[in-house]
Amino acid sequence: MTKKSEEQKSKILVAAPNKSQEGLSVKKDENFSQWYSEILDKAEVTDLRYNVKGFVVIRPWGAMTIENMYKLYEKALQKKGHKPTFFPVVIPETNFKKEANHVKGFKPEVFWLEKIKGEDRLALRPTSETAMYQMYSLWIRSHRDLPLKLYQRANVFRYETKATRPLIRAREFYWLEAHDCFATKEQAETQVQEDIQTTEEVMHQKFKIPFLPMKRPEWDKFAGATYTVASDVLMPDGKLIQQPSTHLLEPSFAKSFNIKFKDNDGKEKFVWQTCYGPAISRILASVISMHGDNSGLIMPFAISPVQVVLIPIYNTENKEKTLKEIEKINSKLLELGITCEIDNSEKRPGEKYHYWELKGVPFRLEIGEKELQEKNLTLHIRDLNKREKIKISELKKILELGKEFDQRLGKKAEEFMKNKIVNCKTKSDLKKALQDKKIARTNFCSVEKNGTKCAEVIEKEFNAEVRGILATKKEKPFGNCIICGKVSKEVVYIGKSY
Ligand SMILES: [Zn+2]
Repeated sequence: MTKKSEEQKSKILVAAPNKSQEGLSVKKDENFSQWYSEILDKAEVTDLRYNVKGFVVIRPWGAMTIENMYKLYEKALQKKGHKPTFFPVVIPETNFKKEANHVKGFKPEVFWLEKIKGEDRLALRPTSETAMYQMYSLWIRSHRDLPLKLYQRANVFRYETKATRPLIRAREFYWLEAHDCFATKEQAETQVQEDIQTTEEVMHQKFKIPFLPMKRPEWDKFAGATYTVASDVLMPDGKLIQQPSTHLLEPSFAKSFNIKFKDNDGKEKFVWQTCYGPAISRILASVISMHGDNSGLIMPFAISPVQVVLIPIYNTENKEKTLKEIEKINSKLLELGITCEIDNSEKRPGEKYHYWELKGVPFRLEIGEKELQEKNLTLHIRDLNKREKIKISELKKILELGKEFDQRLGKKAEEFMKNKIVNCKTKSDLKKALQDKKIARTNFCSVEKNGTKCAEVIEKEFNAEVRGILATKKEKPFGNCIICGKVSKEVVYIGKSY
């Protein structure tokens, strides 16, 4: 080997990207499942190598995004009168057994701790009704204590036996759970509607994830609920994923936990209860899947851990001067409330571009001597993959551009969902819709108990589920039940799910 070719070889070695900088090996629309696994790893969102099945490590990029999502969600909950709490992660078996339907629904999913002699057996919370309501019975005395609206930021544990998928179906996940008590059923039902509105305000308007608010059929409600409204979100592979759900609880919960109040008529009454649970780590799965593309993640401006990355372009002569000027620009952005970072690493500018595109940072400023002299910077926009100029004196414009950025993501997601919902009148329509990875909107005899038989046919013949009816408006059927042919009371949505 000549000296020159050796030199060339070593140059190539230095330039070779490290593992995290490799691009994605598959296209999102060709193999979504692999795209999803790769993006989590290469954009450094999670690490799946932790040695317990179904438990993943969330890395800084994922954790910072989750933190931003929590902040927006909690702000919305607090604005609507909720207050934060922290409850213990362990629940004694005696609490857990108090409400029969709840224990029946959750028991197979509970991680039990080894029993300590002379103490009650303890469960790791799969959800916290039975921890919180124990205390509610001590806190609520009179109608003046109502409404009680509390929530907690918590990780919960479920012993999933089905195949787990990082962030989508895991044995530990990060969520918020709000548990509210009211004097009347009407107030509790208003709360269910308010919860749907909160999902709209945060998940849709801020994270740009549109959803179908589905009142679940009688056979598919939460264990211990009178009814359940869950938000169904579409994944790129045409499957639905359940996102925040809200429940009007059975009065048996208040009775089991003895949550009573003295009303202003002097009588003792049981409270009416609701609970609401947005799983933040699971919503992150939707954010990643919905917005990402073949170059990597695309983070909404509102939640991206870094909103603007500054890439210095310099040579050995002007390095110090360039970096000094870039520091000033960085400070200006920070003053404007924009989260930013200078990429000062040893990599070449092209590698840096690639790296931050993979991470989904909305904007990149490319800054060299020429840009600094002209006081006119190059701004790269991640979703459009387009460059434009921005004057140093007009950096404030980035805030406006950030809003537009998120609006574009929202519009794209909304169109994606709209195009995936098809009206079906016959079984062959339904078959085709599901084959095309779409959601069928169709007529159904009933979502009460007597519709169970038709729902079972859907499961057996089509390997799909009746997800429910729209919770926000009553839709008029446009034909008879797609299965039994009887008069249909409802318009339901049918799809495959995670
Ligand atoms: Zn039917």
